[in-house]
Amino acid sequence: SKVAPVATVRSICGFCATGCGLKVHLNAKGEAINLTPDPDYPVNLGMACPKGWEALAPLAATDRATTPMIRASRNAPLEPTDWGTAMSTFVDRMKGVQAKHGAHSIAFLSTGQVPTEEMALLGALFKFGMGGLHADSNTRQCMATAHVAYKQSFGFDAPPYTYRDFEESDVMVLVGANPAIAHPIMWQRVMRNPHDPQIVVVDPRRTETAMAAHQHYAIEPKGDLWLLYGVTHELCAKGWLDQTFIDAHTEGFEELAPFIAHYSPERCAQECGISADRIRELATLIHTGKRVSFWWTMGVNQGHQSTRIAQALINLALLTGNIGRPGTGANSITGQCNAMGSRIFGNTTSLLGGRYFEKPDDRAEVAEILHIPVETIPPTPSMAYDQIIDGIESGEIRGLWVVATNPAHSWINQGRFQRLREKLDFLVVQDMYATTETARIADLILPAAGWGEKDGTFINSERRIGVTCKVARAPGQALSDFAIFKLIAEAWGCGPMFQAWESPEAVFRILARLSTHQPCDFSGIPGYEALQDAGGIQWPRPARSENLPANGARAKLRAPESAGSDHDHERRLFADGKFFTPSGRAKLLFDPPVKPPESPDEAFPFWLNTGRGSSAQWHTGSRTNKSAVLRKLAPTRPYVEVNPADAAKLGVADDETVRVVSRRGHATAQVFLTPTVRPGQVFMPMHFSEVNQLTFPAFDPHSRQPSYKTCAVTLAAV
Ligand code: SF4
Repeated sequence: SKVAPVATVRSICGFCATGCGLKVHLNAKGEAINLTPDPDYPVNLGMACPKGWEALAPLAATDRATTPMIRASRNAPLEPTDWGTAMSTFVDRMKGVQAKHGAHSIAFLSTGQVPTEEMALLGALFKFGMGGLHADSNTRQCMATAHVAYKQSFGFDAPPYTYRDFEESDVMVLVGANPAIAHPIMWQRVMRNPHDPQIVVVDPRRTETAMAAHQHYAIEPKGDLWLLYGVTHELCAKGWLDQTFIDAHTEGFEELAPFIAHYSPERCAQECGISADRIRELATLIHTGKRVSFWWTMGVNQGHQSTRIAQALINLALLTGNIGRPGTGANSITGQCNAMGSRIFGNTTSLLGGRYFEKPDDRAEVAEILHIPVETIPPTPSMAYDQIIDGIESGEIRGLWVVATNPAHSWINQGRFQRLREKLDFLVVQDMYATTETARIADLILPAAGWGEKDGTFINSERRIGVTCKVARAPGQALSDFAIFKLIAEAWGCGPMFQAWESPEAVFRILARLSTHQPCDFSGIPGYEALQDAGGIQWPRPARSENLPANGARAKLRAPESAGSDHDHERRLFADGKFFTPSGRAKLLFDPPVKPPESPDEAFPFWLNTGRGSSAQWHTGSRTNKSAVLRKLAPTRPYVEVNPADAAKLGVADDETVRVVSRRGHATAQVFLTPTVRPGQVFMPMHFSEVNQLTFPAFDPHSRQPSYKTCAVTLAAV
C-alpha cells in the first residue's frame, strides 16, 4: 500500500510534560505518515492520549505561517516578505529601540513548548549577544511556583520522583490536580498501581479525578493552605512525625512547630470548608500510610500564595519522612512538554543550568565554558513576565519578541495586554501560525517550524530527557526556531559568539558541559543516540568519573546517587537525605494564609475557577483546534459550568447563552449545568480566549505566577 510505513522513528510528544514516547511511521522519503504510541518507552508503556495520537494533524493546518510577514506601518496590513528583509527589519528596529531607550528596553517572552537547545540558544543570543536583560517564558504561567518552591526548600528545582512512584504509593494526596484529563497517561500509571492505594483529591470541583478517588476534599477556593496547615497541626499534635528524618535532614522545625500550633483543625475548618473531623481523618491516613505521595499541579501553582501552598505539601512529605523512598515524594506534575528545560536552561530568570545571574562565580563559570567575556553576562536577574508587562505600560520596555506563545489570549487580564500593544514600538511574533491572537497584532511575523519539523530534546516531569525528531518538512519558508535564532545572530553581528552552537545536538553537548556539577548534571549522556537507545534518561546522569565522591565547595552540588532503581531508567532523588541547599538540609518554609485579593460580593457573587476542560484540548488551542478529531472530542464554543441550584435561582437553563462578567471584562458562554461545581462557584475552561477577559491579575510574591484560579464574576442575560 502507498501508506505502508517503511520505517519508524522514536520521538517524544510535544504537548504535555508527561513526555510520552511515540513511534512515528515514515514513508520512503522519510516523511511522517502516521504515528503510534511507543510500547517500549518507559513513560507511557504503549499508551497515548488523544493529543498524542493527533500530534501530526496541526502540522498540516492551512493557516501555517509559510513566509515572513511585515507591516509597512502600524495600521497597514501584514504582507509577505522575504527572510532578508525580515532579518534586517528585526535588527534595525530592535537596535533602534535600544539606541533610543537603552539596551534593556527590549524583552522576549518565550515558551515551554520548544526544545531545550532552542531555548538555550534564544536566551544566550538575547542576553550575551544582543545585550538584552528582560526575558521570561510562559512557564511563568504554569510551573514557576513549583520551580521556586523547590529552589527555596530543596536548593534546586528538583522534582524528586519517578513515574514508578504512581504505581508504588499506598496513599496518594492530589491537590489542585486533575490528572484523569490533564495528564491522562500519568493517571493510567496510577490505575496500574497494584497496592490499591487510597486516593485523596483536594479540589473545589468534583473533577473527573475526584470522582474516581476514595476521598474528595471539596475545599473553599484557595482554602488549601488552611487545610494543609490543619493536617500538619494534627500530625504534630499527635506526634505522628518522622523525628529522626526531621532532625537529620531538615531545618526550620523549631520555627514551624510553634507556628503550626495556632492552626488547629477547628480553626482551619472555618476557613477551608472541611470539617475538623475530616481534617483529622486525612492526617490519620497520612500517618498510617507506608508510602505516601503528595502531588500538585495548577490548582496550587496558580494562586496568590502558591509557593507557600506547594511548600506546605513539601513540608508534609519531609515531616513524615515520605521522600526519597519508592511511592513517596512531594511531587509537582509539570504542565508543558519542556517547561523543565525552559526553567533550567532558558537563560531567562535563571542563568544557564539553574545558576544565578547575581553570583559572580556562576557568571565566571558560564563564561569559561562558553568562551565568552564574562562582562557579556548581565549581573542582574530579569524582570518576571508580569513585570515585563508592567514595563510596557511604564515605557521601560518598547520592543517585544514573542516566541511560540500567545499572550494576547493566555495572559491574565488579557484586555490589558491587548491595550498595551499600542505602547510597543515593535512587536515580533515567531510562531507556526500567523493567526494566533498575538500574531494578528504583530509588526513582524517570523514563520517557525513546529513539533515534528525539527530536532531537539525535552525534559519531562520526572526529569527525563528525551529526543524529539524531525519527521516532516516545515511548509514554505518556515524555519526551525533554531535556524531563525542563528540567522538573527548573524544579522545582529554576534554570529561568531555562537559558532560552536552549530546544530541542536552540538548545543546539547554544550548544555551537558554547563550542567556539570549542577544538580541537573547530565554530562554522562553522550548524545541523542544514547537517549534514543535508553528511552530517555533522567537527570542526574553525571559522567562516570563525576559519580565519585568529591571534596571541596562544589561537592555539595554533586548529583546524588539514584535511589530505588530496580532498573536503570527509574531514578528518584534524595534517598540519602541530602538536599541541594548550602547546609544539605531541606528547609521547612511557611507563612500565615492570606485571603484572595478578590472574593465574591453582592455585585459579583460567584467564584470563577478556570482550568483544563478536556484531554483533547491544549492551552489556547492554537494547535489542537487544527485537528478535526480533537475538535469533535471537546466543545469548540465557550461554556460555563453552573450548579443547577444556582441556575434555578438565576432562571437560566442548560445550553442557554449568558454573559459571564467580572470587573475587568465579559465573556459570552453557553451554560452547562452540572453538580460538579458547587453552588456559588462556576468553572470555565482556559482554552477559550474570552476567559482571560475575566481573570484577576494577582501574583504569588515568590514565584510571580498569576492567580488564574480565583476571581469574582456574575452571570447576566445576553
Ligand atoms: Fe502523553 Fe501528554 Fe502527549 Fe497526551 S499530551 S500523549 S499525555 S505527552
